[in-house]
Parts: sequence; C-alpha cells; structure tokens
Amino acid sequence: MRGIVFSSIKQLIKTLLNLGFDDEFGNDLNQKHVVNFSYMMFCLSCLFMIAVFSFRQMYSVSLFSAFGLFIGVIGLRYNYIGYFSRAQLLMPIIKISQITVLSLFYFGTSSGFHWFFVNVIAYSFVVFRADQRATKGWIVGASVALFLLCELVNTGGLYLSTVDQEIAIILVFLAVAFNFAMVINLVMNRLKAVNHHLRTLAEKDELTGLSNRRKVLADAVNIFADSVINRESCVFSIVDLDHFKKINDTFGHEAGDLVLAKVSAMMASVIRSQDEIGRYGGEEFIVIMRDTSLKKAAAMMEHMRQSVEDMLIETEHGIVIPVTISIGLAAIDPSVSRYEEISAQADKGLYAAKRSGRNRLSVQSDYQN
Ligand code: GH3
Ligand code: MG
Ligand code: MG
Repeated sequence: MRGIVFSSIKQLIKTLLNLGFDDEFGNDLNQKHVVNFSYMMFCLSCLFMIAVFSFRQMYSVSLFSAFGLFIGVIGLRYNYIGYFSRAQLLMPIIKISQITVLSLFYFGTSSGFHWFFVNVIAYSFVVFRADQRATKGWIVGASVALFLLCELVNTGGLYLSTVDQEIAIILVFLAVAFNFAMVINLVMNRLKAVNHHLRTLAEKDELTGLSNRRKVLADAVNIFADSVINRESCVFSIVDLDHFKKINDTFGHEAGDLVLAKVSAMMASVIRSQDEIGRYGGEEFIVIMRDTSLKKAAAMMEHMRQSVEDMLIETEHGIVIPVTISIGLAAIDPSVSRYEEISAQADKGLYAAKRSGRNRLSVQSDYQN
C-alpha cells in the first residue's frame, strides 16, 4: 500500500515536471523542468501558508496566498497549453511580488523571508537562454535591489512576533537550501540523461541498431588488450553478406536495407551475452567472442550462418529474398601481438570463404586453445 502511494506520488511529480512537453530530449527541457518545478514548489508553499495562517487566524495572509496559488495554477496551465515563455516569465514576477509584499508588510524584514530572492536569481540563471539576457538582467537586478532594500530597511511587519521571526528564519533557510539543491539535482540528472542519449546516438548504427564501426572497433581493441593481459582466448570474426549488391539490384535498395536490419537482428540473437557485434561498414559485421575457444566460436558462427540461410525475408510483394553470409574467423594465439594482426587474419578467412564458394566459414589460425 505504501509502495503504491509512494510510486503514484513519484509518477505525479514526473507528470508535473514534464507538463506540456513530449519531446524527451528537446533542447530546452532543462529550463522547462525547472520552470515546472518552480511552479510546483510555489503552489505547494502557497497551500502551506494558506493552512498555517488560516489556523492562526491571519486571514489576510491566507487570502494573499490563495491569490498566489491561483496565479501559480495559471502558470502551470500556460506550460500545459504550450505557452512556455509566458510561464517562464510569470514565475519570477509572482515570486518577486510575493517575497516583497510578505517580507516588507506582513512578516517584517527580520523574518529573513527576503532570502527567497536567492531562488529567483538561481531560477533566472538556469531558465533564461543566452538570447533572453535582457530579461534575465532585469529580473536579477530587481531581485538584488529588493533584497538589499529588505536588508537595509527594518520593517516590523504586521503579524509575526519575535519568536515567530526566529522560527521563520530557520524555515526560510531550509526552504531556500532545499529549493537550490533540487534545482541543481534536476539540472544534473538532466545532463546525465542527455549525455547518455548522445552517447547512444554516437555508438549506434541507425539502420541495424547494432554498435557502429567506431564503437565496435573501440570494443575490439579493448577486449583484445584484456585478453592478452589475462591470457584468455578470444576469437574475432568478420561476417559479410553474399552477393549483396545483387540483392540491391534485384529487389531495390529498400529491400536491401530490410535484409540488413533483419539479418542483423538474427545475428544479434544468436550471439551470447558476453559477445559483441557491430556493423563494420556496408554489409560487413564484426563479432568478438571473449573467453572462448576457437572450436566453440566456430560452432556458434556456423549456427549463425545456418540461421541466416534459413531466414525467410519477404519483399512487400511476398517474394522471399535468399540471403547467405560468409565468415572469417581468427583467434588470439601466442604469435599475435597486435589487434591489427588478428583482424587481418579474420579478413583473410573471409576472403578464403568467399573464394571457395560463399555461404561458409573459414578459420584462419591453427592454434586450438
Ligand atoms: P560479395 O559476396 O563478394 O561480398 O559481393 P557483394 O555484392 O556483397 O559485395 P560488394 O562489396 O560488391 O557490394 C556491397 C554492396 O552493399 C554495395 C553497396 O551498394 C551495398 N550497401 C552498402 N551499404 C548499404 C546499405 O546501408 N543499404 C543497402 N541497401 N545497401 C548497402
Ligand atoms: Mg558482400
Ligand atoms: Mg563487403
């Protein structure tokens, strides 16, 4: 039960954070998250004040906060219907008005309430883009000026006693720190997500979904070095589709793409979890099998060859496209000391497989580990 409540609260927060935006990696999402978060915090703080000050029968503060809540909901609605720049600008304006009125008139400057201007300044730095420098300047300038005014002027305020004000100072500092930490947290999480997304884009081949050339070559070099250091056997393999040009010429380039995608998926499903596969280029692929004997690797690749041969890939007109692959295999042996040597051996294997009739596998090292 508690789990359900907790996860639905989490879901609600996520929904509110993403309010109005469906592009998960849009450019401005960082800002949009912070804007939505600020509205959420603002509405929550208004609700809190309505409750506390109604209880203490300070109805004018409750009423003022209810008005704030109303405007806060309007801001959230702006985001919801896509008026992002309005929401973006409305937030600091209502915050500045709220802090100024509450600090100078209701609570008195000794309540420390004006420290909330720090949040407005942080908000402006995160939320406004470079081309909104003027707006940012105005908001930061106004916040700093009003902060200084509250520091210099000593207003007693209408409502809070000295004890109240001491409690208020602590609450205000906690709230400011929490707000600050949450904004930093939001921005950091977002940067992490974007980094992850960019990395995936940089390492993936779009058509086949496999690792691209850059990634698989980097993996190959790393795995090779690891295997040499740990004295483990490691097998490299190069796979090439047979007569692929003919497939393109006969069935069209689109059908060729379909074949590449389907064959890639089949090959990826045949390898084990510790193996790596990537698109080396065109219709050529690399498979790296770590900690494996040449015999086992050859058996697995033979299974791959057979599985591809057995595939039934149909064109949109229902014609089955025959596909086969040729495979060159090579293992690390004591005479191989560089990655380039093993890849050259696997390449030689591929060439031999092609020359002797295609749709077969050729092993290029006699070292049976
Ligand atoms: P072999 O059996 O000797 O490997 O013959 P092949 O026709 O497969 O080899 P070749 O290197 O002559 O031709 C490869 C073809 O693959 C040429 C190129 O147009 C095609 N190709 C490369 N990348 C793609 C791609 O992303 N999509 C499609 N549809 N074709 C591609
Ligand atoms: Mg080919
Ligand atoms: Mg080729």
